[in-house]
Amino acid sequence: MSTLQSPYRISHWIGGLPVEDKNAVVIPNINPATTVVVGEIPVASAAVVDEAVQAAKNAFVSWSALPAETRAYWLNRLADAIDAEMESLALAETTDSGKPLWLSKKVDIPRASSNFRFFAAAATQFASESHSGPNTIDYTLRQPLGVVGCISPWNLPLYLFTWKIAPALAAGNTVVAKPSEVTPTTAYLLGELMKRIGFPPGVLNIIQGDGPTTGESIVTHPEIKAISFTGSTRAGQRIASLLAPGLKKYSLELGGKNAAVIFADAEFDAMITETVRSSFTNQGEICLCTSRLLIEDSIYDRFRDAFLEKVKQLTIGDPLDEKSKQGALVSQTHFEKVSQCVELAVEEGGRMLIGGERFTATGNCSGGFFYKPTVIEGLGPDTRTNQEEIFGPVVTLQRFKDEKEAIELANASGYGLAATVWTSELKKAHRVATALQTGIVWVNSWLYRDLRTPFGGVKNSGIGREGGWEAMRFFTEPKNISIRF
Ligand code: NAD
Repeated sequence: MSTLQSPYRISHWIGGLPVEDKNAVVIPNINPATTVVVGEIPVASAAVVDEAVQAAKNAFVSWSALPAETRAYWLNRLADAIDAEMESLALAETTDSGKPLWLSKKVDIPRASSNFRFFAAAATQFASESHSGPNTIDYTLRQPLGVVGCISPWNLPLYLFTWKIAPALAAGNTVVAKPSEVTPTTAYLLGELMKRIGFPPGVLNIIQGDGPTTGESIVTHPEIKAISFTGSTRAGQRIASLLAPGLKKYSLELGGKNAAVIFADAEFDAMITETVRSSFTNQGEICLCTSRLLIEDSIYDRFRDAFLEKVKQLTIGDPLDEKSKQGALVSQTHFEKVSQCVELAVEEGGRMLIGGERFTATGNCSGGFFYKPTVIEGLGPDTRTNQEEIFGPVVTLQRFKDEKEAIELANASGYGLAATVWTSELKKAHRVATALQTGIVWVNSWLYRDLRTPFGGVKNSGIGREGGWEAMRFFTEPKNISIRF
């Protein structure tokens, strides 16, 4: 892979070729750990989006007609190409996002290739239903939709980008995809890998740009049949409003304000270790991170002391340093947002137990957007701090007296993405998990992901599900054919 020489200007990938748009408005791409401008991104206009849609439309005829095994072959080839470039992709991911390099190597890039492999297998296993009656047989075709749009966020850039693209392609669609303008590079590099392996041109078109211009041009393009979106609830609501008049199919994976419900009978040490991980992995910038820790009264003090002790041990610093558990926040804008949320928590009467301020790293990273892991107590469920998504290394502690109050507190949120429940009592685990208003519940674990399971949230956390057959169903249209004999 040609290593991008900084400062670079990345291209779109349309019809299998890099497309430079010399007249485009550009956005600087800034390494948030060093604040160095590493490159710039063209903002694709509606005309560029249309070019990508036409390329995808042309490719649809042959791609959708391929046997599933051949589509699977190409997805596996892409997975192999990603694995072969693991080091350079991980470095690009870390440079764009500020996340520790070890995390990009361990999670982000391996998961991107797993996404392609998983859906390559799904393509060959996807089956549809048949129903026989006394005089009829019904069978249901699952036909690809055509050209679909995939839009992804900055927190797990290649991981979430491929999580959408892979099922769309596996089901026989062709794709126009846009990564976040904050983390564009690995998506661009994926285009290079497609070129290297001779991936069928036009099947996957990768365009760069912002939300209002490029994103909305994808969303509203009349020849794009469905939108798969992951990002903020604010943007999801805007997209839903744009799509309503055209009745276009969509799936929205949005924000979260996830609770950890911690009972006194939990296996204490494992719970503490995992709750620190669920709170602060990727600087708290994972939609599944826990941000509201609900703790049973009788162990509240013990929990707080042990939790703070572990949080103190989280080393922050240069994402390239293997010892850094925490890297930089993704951008100055996001750093300012997180800082303001913490100021608000103090205004609302929260007690700062640890953190609550910028971390000044050393060397190249001295100006970087690092924020200390922050723990706040003393805020009720209705405060803005406990209602609004912060999406950074900030958690609050609240107490509960019994199971009923625990469930009430956990559900006292406009969001409903994920929750964790910590208890040794099996019946209680089932009861509480069933009562929680979320799309995902982990009992005595966090972020264990079986890619076959439905993934997504309720309430303001979204509409629709990704993962396994859910994704294959989203990217196909069922057509029932009834034959009388
Ligand atoms: P964002 O909504 O600002 O942007 C996400 C993507 O949408 C970007 O590519 C952006 O350019 C594009 N976009 C923005 N406005 C748009 C519009 N009007 N039309 C079309 N596209 C538009 O979100 P972000 O700040 O990049 O990501 C963080 C958010 O994503 C958080 O709220 C987080 O919880 C959420 N998230 C959710 C999940 C999930 O699976 N539920 C996963 C990861 C992140």
